[in-house]
Amino acid sequence: MSILVTGGAGYIGSHTAVELLDTGENIIILDNFSNSSPEVLDKIKQITKKDFKFYKVDLLDENALDKVFEENNIDEVIHFAGLKAVGESVEKPIEYYNNNITGTLNLLKVMKKYNCKKIVFSSSATVYGNPKTLPIKEDFPLSTTNPYGATKLMIEQILQDVNVADKDFRVAILRYFNPIGAHKSGLIGEVPNGIPNNIMPYIVRVAVGKYNELTVFGNDYDTEDGTGVRDYIHVVDLAKGHLSALKKIRENSGVQIYNLGTGRGYSVLELVKTFEKVNNVKVNYKIGDRRPGDIASCFADVNKAKKEMNWVATKGLEEMCKDSWNFILKNK
Ligand code: NAD
Ligand code: UDP
Repeated sequence: MSILVTGGAGYIGSHTAVELLDTGENIIILDNFSNSSPEVLDKIKQITKKDFKFYKVDLLDENALDKVFEENNIDEVIHFAGLKAVGESVEKPIEYYNNNITGTLNLLKVMKKYNCKKIVFSSSATVYGNPKTLPIKEDFPLSTTNPYGATKLMIEQILQDVNVADKDFRVAILRYFNPIGAHKSGLIGEVPNGIPNNIMPYIVRVAVGKYNELTVFGNDYDTEDGTGVRDYIHVVDLAKGHLSALKKIRENSGVQIYNLGTGRGYSVLELVKTFEKVNNVKVNYKIGDRRPGDIASCFADVNKAKKEMNWVATKGLEEMCKDSWNFILKNK
């Protein structure tokens, strides 16, 4: 019996693979390296001292995917593989819908063929759109403003529909808030393609001198210091949330939906100041315009995950900042 980890060479997938291997799970990683590299697989082995099977397969290649299931006894899937850049999704909607939706449909078709009936899916807080109140609960209304978010919402719907058609099909939908940080070893972490869109990869690149300054996207929001507030969560805490979700769907049928965040929001300036303080480095910044599509504040109500999965994030902002810095220093 194995767990297939799609997108397992990526940022969150690689950290989850480590946690799975550390707890003795048998995993198979599948990735097409569109946003990652083969070295990550060696790093996972180095950290865990465990081996696993790997397939360089694109989810769009249904025949190759079929072969993975044919050759292995896969009874659970953790599905990370997907394109994730919001701005790029606006420019390349067809590519995003094709990769994320068609890729997931292919996966579900093959899972059905091989009677594989458990899936944990990477969704995002972006499905809440601009929430009317905070903190965000799982039953808040859902909406999206870009193709990336639309793919997440559509896949959530598809998974619910498959569950309606087959009650034995079990689903955990995990809505991530803002993952940052890296594994303590500094061997795996976030490696964005090109200029980073997300804040932490940008901050670390300013701190090492690759970029001159961070542009803070707006300081006129209705927040304590005017800059955007987000619920940053350590990627290792997030990774552990997948193990809890897996346990949950092993023991319970149905569709389980959970926010994975810390429940606490920090502003851009608080993040920058904390990063500077704990790492003793300077992060130059300037205040710029708001980024189109951004919301003022976003943080999770995490009570459901705590109550139903006994999962809570344990790592604070300082540790996240230290671990992000450690990773960039080791991988300049
Ligand atoms: P990532 O880009 O680092 O990892 C995704 C992996 O999937 C990459 O290794 C990529 O090569 C692979 N992949 C993409 N399309 C594929 C395909 N068609 N076939 C095979 N492999 C494919 O991204 P991440 O940050 O680790 O995110 C993982 C998942 O979590 C994604 O679905 C993302 O949308 C979601 N998510 C991420 C964040 C975040 O801030 N990082 C927040 C919310 C949700
Ligand atoms: N942000 C910023 N400068 C950057 C990147 C991001 O000020 O170069 C801000 C952004 O406006 C938001 C927060 O940092 O308030 C987190 O942005 P990110 O893109 O990391 O995640 P999001 O929550 O938008 O998915």
